Amino acid sequence: MNDYDDNLTGTAPTTDHEEARPDLSSTHVREDVALAGHCANVHLPTGRTCTLPVRHPGSCRFVGPEDAQQAAVS
Ligand SMILES: [Zn+2]
Repeated sequence: MNDYDDNLTGTAPTTDHEEARPDLSSTHVREDVALAGHCANVHLPTGRTCTLPVRHPGSCRFVGPEDAQQAAVS
């Protein structure tokens, strides 16, 4: 039986937990598109990018690389 509680002993060193956003861990955000004020989520299976405004309601609408390029900062 192994009943010692190491949940209480090890308080995780909280560094910058901005880095570990669980909502973004499975998605990739295209930086140049995000900088232009877009959602910029990348749908990894297709490589398409969401060019709706950042924090848009509803689900992402992914566009192809050419449209995403036009939405990106140049
Ligand atoms: Zn989106």
